Amino acid sequence: MTTKNWVTHFENSVQEVFNIIGDNKRESRGDNIITKHSARDGQLLYQFGAGTPEEVAEAVAAAKAAFDDGRWSRLSVHQRAAALQKLADLVEANKEELALNEALDVGKPISEALSADVGATVSTLRSAAEGASKIAGLAAQDGGVFSCKLLKPIGVCGAIVGWNYPMSLASQKIGPALAMGNTLVLKPSEFSSLSAWRLAELALEAGIPDGVFNVVNGAGAIVGDALARHPDVRLLSFTGSSATGKRLQVAAGESNMKRLILECGGKSPYIVFDDYEADLNALAKNMVSNAFENQGALCVSPSRVLLQRGVKDRLLPKLFEQTKAIEPNDPLDPNTIFGGIINEAHMKKVLGYVQSGHTDGAQLLTGGEQIRQETGGYYLTPAIFDNVKPTARIAKEEIFGPLMSVFTFDTEEEAVALANDSEYGLAAYAATGNAGRMQRLARDLDVGVAILLSTLDQAPGGIGFGAEPHKQSGMGVEGGLDGLMAYTARSQVLMYF
Ligand code: NAD
Repeated sequence: MTTKNWVTHFENSVQEVFNIIGDNKRESRGDNIITKHSARDGQLLYQFGAGTPEEVAEAVAAAKAAFDDGRWSRLSVHQRAAALQKLADLVEANKEELALNEALDVGKPISEALSADVGATVSTLRSAAEGASKIAGLAAQDGGVFSCKLLKPIGVCGAIVGWNYPMSLASQKIGPALAMGNTLVLKPSEFSSLSAWRLAELALEAGIPDGVFNVVNGAGAIVGDALARHPDVRLLSFTGSSATGKRLQVAAGESNMKRLILECGGKSPYIVFDDYEADLNALAKNMVSNAFENQGALCVSPSRVLLQRGVKDRLLPKLFEQTKAIEPNDPLDPNTIFGGIINEAHMKKVLGYVQSGHTDGAQLLTGGEQIRQETGGYYLTPAIFDNVKPTARIAKEEIFGPLMSVFTFDTEEEAVALANDSEYGLAAYAATGNAGRMQRLARDLDVGVAILLSTLDQAPGGIGFGAEPHKQSGMGVEGGLDGLMAYTARSQVLMYF
């Protein structure tokens, strides 16, 4: 089998950004230009005119017209599901182009973009299509009253997403919003704008009527804010930082009290107890690959590693060796497992956290350096700090980059207290051989997703029930049938006979 030359493929391709409003594909009319440089080599990748509030208003009007006339909302759930399945087929058919977009935009390895990003997008769209027909209302009869709960689409939904998994984050909004009969205006991150409009174009090709899925590109404070404040947007679904999530709560409150789904930041712990009996090499591999997936730009990255004293001496050297062995490399090399940082500003931000780790007295074991400067790209070696104080900035703040902080504990109570000592509550991982402890952790860890491991023999997977972030990691459910329900308005109907 010959390996594809992605660099040649890239050199023969064009990177462009358009808005999709109704069935019109056009450049934004905004005067402000957004410029994107490549994480690979710092070269100009593309630029586009930033969208304007007027273009948001046009997109919302197109989505409202498409909702109101029932061209989508009044189709049968099976017709909508068939169109979404067709969209998933088209994502698969165009996976090389879309994966290249993701690798170029984010700096992530092309191999990961092809498998994880495309895979997650396709499965999210398919599971929304499959799930929609499984949801039915409840009905009850009480004396002469027949009561039922009607699940209706809400109307125009807005979606705003962050930069780290552009296409797959967008699919988590597109799938459920459309499956349940709503229409959508999506604003991707201005730092990774290549894939969203292509998904909207593929949706038109899949037979999803015009106006159902619109895209407006541009800056958060302008296009995002206009969407968040628009009076005809009835639900806003967001994936991004907690700071922006809080701004959206204000915008929703100051406009029309639109519903909010907020999937925000995290600072997840990975706790390892000394009664974990399975292979420590495999455990270390799991910890390192989760912490540094997507160059650490992962909302559920286990960036806080909590080691019980009895296991620390055996496990930490393995974490060290495996992390030190990671070689940041060109995202377009098919052998790369760790690519570049999305842009220079973010690289500098991560380097600032490395500095603060030193200042706050933690001990750097490996990494935390800029390398491959000769390429002009933004490459950092993944870092591990040991002896991190719980009050240190690297212990508290979401870094969204390749930096792992290690803490030591003695008792389960101490571990739970450390794990919960965070303003975030997105996810937690724990490895233990004690079934009772697992149950206590499930109860005590204040997080939306608890991943509790007694072994890594089983391929990790998860049945999507839909998780709800705790604390300042957000609100509302994404995924599973509960996630579909979030895109419905429930009306109670009482019939007297
Ligand atoms: P961000 O909050 O800076 O930006 C996210 C989106 O919000 C972008 O499209 C941006 O343009 C827009 N935005 C910014 N300011 C806005 C405003 N005032 N009004 C409206 N929109 C605005 O986040 P980011 O740096 O792109 O993404 C990283 C964050 O996303 C991290 O905190 C990460 O944990 C989080 N994230 C969470 C999940 C999850 O499922 N919980 C998944 C991925 C990423």
